[in-house]
Amino acid sequence: MIINFENASFRDFENIPNMDILERATVFNDFLAYMEKNGHLNYRFQNISGCGPEMEVITNTGNLHKNYVSFVSNDYLGFTQHPKVKEAVINAIQIYGTGAGASPLIGGYFSFHKKLEEKIAHFFGRDSDSSVIYTTGYTANSASLQSLLLKEDIAIVDMAIHASVLEGCLHTNKKTFLHNDLESLERILKDSKDKYRTKMVIVDGVYSQDGDLAPLDKIWELTQRYGAYLTVDDAHGIGILGETGRGAMEMYGILDKVDLITGTFSKSFANIGGYVVGNSKIISFLKFQSRQHIFSATSTPATAGIVKAIELIDEEPFWQKQLQSNIAYFKNGLKSLGMEIGTTGSAIIPIKIGDPHKTSEAGRLLLKAGIYTNPILYPAVAKKNARIRMSLMATHTRVHLDSALNALEDIGKVLNISKREYA
Ligand code: PMP
Repeated sequence: MIINFENASFRDFENIPNMDILERATVFNDFLAYMEKNGHLNYRFQNISGCGPEMEVITNTGNLHKNYVSFVSNDYLGFTQHPKVKEAVINAIQIYGTGAGASPLIGGYFSFHKKLEEKIAHFFGRDSDSSVIYTTGYTANSASLQSLLLKEDIAIVDMAIHASVLEGCLHTNKKTFLHNDLESLERILKDSKDKYRTKMVIVDGVYSQDGDLAPLDKIWELTQRYGAYLTVDDAHGIGILGETGRGAMEMYGILDKVDLITGTFSKSFANIGGYVVGNSKIISFLKFQSRQHIFSATSTPATAGIVKAIELIDEEPFWQKQLQSNIAYFKNGLKSLGMEIGTTGSAIIPIKIGDPHKTSEAGRLLLKAGIYTNPILYPAVAKKNARIRMSLMATHTRVHLDSALNALEDIGKVLNISKREYA
């Protein structure tokens, strides 16, 4: 089978019939070399400075770039560099060392884990025993859903749901509703009546590619009407949205109503790890039954930094306000340039270009102009829906934002991706 590299995406190499893994890998490596030759392999760059609005990066050609203005980090509040967060991590490492040594069930559950579980449960207004932490946000979804939903059950998910939820649904029935479409969701809930033991609707609070929000209040009402559980993963909303940074659920007034809240510590909380918050009996079930808790170690003492980051959301609301102000400024700038940014309501800004080749070109030209972004192509988004994805941070200055807007203005003209009429 011959693959035309010009129109190919990573998906085309996932499973090539009649080729063993080495043959498949070889063809794929040829494709990577082709992308690199065109300057379109803008992935897996090596950052040699910390997360931040300016980053030192070694690109795939081996070139060192000293000060890219960066929009690739989901460290939305800039807490990976906050002195109090760093101090908490350093202190914990001095006390506990660097690792947990075992899975939580058999000796790897420490006081810093318990403290974090209590902290995140209280953050969402729940009791101390209402949360369990995981090694990543990905496994908070995949490992917990795999143990909760089995072949007698059904997961009803938005078509734009995160990959980690899809992995969690591998052992259960799954139906997908059209993105944010309440009629489509209701139809599936109606069809599922009396057919399954547990029905669970699973949505993101903020969708990770478009940055748009789920209509959570209406979705919650439907789950009540049809007797379904509601799980919300608000990885990209926590710390950014809601009066007190509790995310999209706070905005829609359902923070105390959602059955399971899942999320990550890798974005606003500036570390690594994930959590599930909900009914204490279900949480206890997960602590003893979900395979990650039995067979895999969880976070290191650096977890203490997450506790501090959670506290900072209440202690220093300034960062959330600063981020919101950056979002408003940048969106205005993009709109006046005629850029298509869809319906984002978060710190994720997609510059929707559509054509995959133009999108890769835009990524290359932005890098040339010193702006580090992520070109997102199929299969992460639909084939005709390629975009440049930018994550805004509280620590971006107006100078950073203006430099990106200026670069986008120039590139918009070159690639003809702006809707604005140029004289
Ligand atoms: N859920 C959503 C909606 C996400 O966007 C992500 C990460 N991009 C995750 C879960 C996984 O989080 P983590 O990076 O902690 O594995």
